[in-house]
Amino acid sequence: MYSLLIKNANIIDGSGKARFTADVAVQGDQIVNIAPKIKTPAQITIEADGKVLAPGFIDLQNHSDAYWQIFDNPSLDSLITQGYTTILMGNCGASLAPLLSSQALLAMQKWHNLEGVNINWVSFSEFIEELSKRRFGCNVGSLVGYSTLRRAVVGDQIRGLQKGELEAIGRALKQSLESGAFGLSSGLSYAHEIIVSELELFELAKIIKNYSALFSIHLRNEGDEIIEAIDEALDIAKATGVNLKISHLKIRNQANWHKLPEVLNVIDTAYMQGTDVHFDVYPYDTVWQALYAYLPKWAIEGGRTTMLRHFADPVQKNKVLSFLNNSGVKFSTMYVASTATKLNFSGKTVGQIAKNMESSGEQAVLKLVENGGSEVLVFEQSLNMGQVKEIILHPLSFIGTDGAGFGLKNNNRLVHPRCFGTAAKFLNIAQGAGESLEGAIKKLSSAPAKKAGIKKRGEIKIGNFADLVIFDPAKVKDRATYENPYQFSEGMEYVFVNGKAAVAEGKITGQLPGYVLRKN
Ligand SMILES: [Zn+2]
Repeated sequence: MYSLLIKNANIIDGSGKARFTADVAVQGDQIVNIAPKIKTPAQITIEADGKVLAPGFIDLQNHSDAYWQIFDNPSLDSLITQGYTTILMGNCGASLAPLLSSQALLAMQKWHNLEGVNINWVSFSEFIEELSKRRFGCNVGSLVGYSTLRRAVVGDQIRGLQKGELEAIGRALKQSLESGAFGLSSGLSYAHEIIVSELELFELAKIIKNYSALFSIHLRNEGDEIIEAIDEALDIAKATGVNLKISHLKIRNQANWHKLPEVLNVIDTAYMQGTDVHFDVYPYDTVWQALYAYLPKWAIEGGRTTMLRHFADPVQKNKVLSFLNNSGVKFSTMYVASTATKLNFSGKTVGQIAKNMESSGEQAVLKLVENGGSEVLVFEQSLNMGQVKEIILHPLSFIGTDGAGFGLKNNNRLVHPRCFGTAAKFLNIAQGAGESLEGAIKKLSSAPAKKAGIKKRGEIKIGNFADLVIFDPAKVKDRATYENPYQFSEGMEYVFVNGKAAVAEGKITGQLPGYVLRKN
C-alpha cells in the first residue's frame, strides 16, 4: 500500500528530457515507483488525466525571512499556490543568522519593521534549530547574508574592516556553512555594503569555495555601472573558482538598455571559459526597492543618521536634489508600496505626493525618505520587458521571485506582484516565446537545485523527495497586479511537499509539510 498514487500523468521530470506518460507512487515523503499502470493500491489516489506532473518549483532568490513572513505567514501561501515547494532565503546580504551582535539584525530593517520582534537565537545552527521547531508550507533553507555578518562587527558605522575583523567574519561564515547554510549572499548596492572591498569579497569567496557552497551576489550597480559591477563579480569567481549566482539580473533605466548584449556576452564568455556563473531573473519590468537607494552614494554612506544630517544642511541638500534631478529616474511615476511609519502613501505616485506637498518630485523623495522611516519601498518601472524576456530565456538563467510568501491580508502595504505571480507569468512567457515546457520547468526545478546543492529535489526520480505539482499548462495564470497584488495565481491543482498536499484541487489545505533544509 502506497501513501499516494498519481495516475496517468504527463510527466515532465525536471531534467529537461521529453515528457512521458506514467504513474508515480509515493511512500511517506519519497517517490518510490514510476511506471505505467501501477497496480498496488494507495491511501490517496489522484487521477491526473493527462495533466502535467512536474517537480515542485525551487526559488533560490527568496526573502520570506526579510519580510518576516516565515513567522507571520508560515504557510507561505503566495508561493505554494504558484507551485513553489522549496525556497532559499537569506538573499541580498541580509539573513536572520548568525546574529553575533545586536546590530546584526539591522541589515533587515529596510524590508521589515523590527520593533517588537522576538529573537531567541544567535548562531546559524541555533536559528536552524528554532526553525525546525516550526512548520512551513514549503521547504526552507537559507544563505548567510554578508550585511548581517559585517554589521555584527562594524555596527551602524560604514567603514573598512580593521585588523582581525575580516578573520572574525570568516570564522562566523565557516561556522554557519558547517551548520547547514547553503552559501553567502551580498547586497553590494546597499548602504552598508557599498564600502565592501573586492579584497573582502575575494577572501570570503575562498571560504565559500572550500565548502562547495553558493555565492549569491546582488550587484553593486544595475544601471550606469552594470558592466563594471558584473566584471567585479566575475573577477572574484574567476580568481577563486567559487560557484557564483548573480541575483535578479536586469538593466535599469532606458539609457542603459543598450548594454544588455555586452552584459550577456561577458557572462557567456566567462561561462565558456569555465567560470561557474548563472543568474536569476523575475518576469516583471518593475523593480521594488528601498527609496533611499536612489540617493547618491556619498549621502547614504554614513548610514541613516549621517544621511539625515546631510538633508538638514541646505548646501548638501541641494547637491542631493540636483543628483536626483540628473539621475534619469522618473520619480513622478514611481509608486510608493509601503512606509514604516503610518504616512499612508501606499499606492500613490511620488508625483501625486509632490503635488499635495506643492514641491518637486525630488523634494518629495527626500521628504519620504526622511519621514517614512528606514523602510520606504517603491515600485519603479525601469526595465524593458523585451529584455526581461531575453534574460528569462537565456540558457544560464533560473527564475527567482526575489519576493516572499504572503497571505491575502494586506496590512496597508503593497507588495510586488512577483510574490504571487512569478512562476505562472514565467510559464506563460516561456510558452509564448516557443520555449518547450520541459525547458521552462527545468529552470524552475533541477537547474536551481543543482546550482545550490539542494539534494534529492528538483527532479521526479525514484528516491527523491515527493515535491510535486500537477497542472494543466493552458490554465496557469498569474493575477497579481501592482494596484492589487494580493491575488493568488491560478492553475496549480495539486502541490505536494514531502508527499503531503499543501494545495489540493486548487485550494490551500493548511497542511504545513515543509522541512528545514541544511546543505549536505
Ligand atoms: Zn537584491
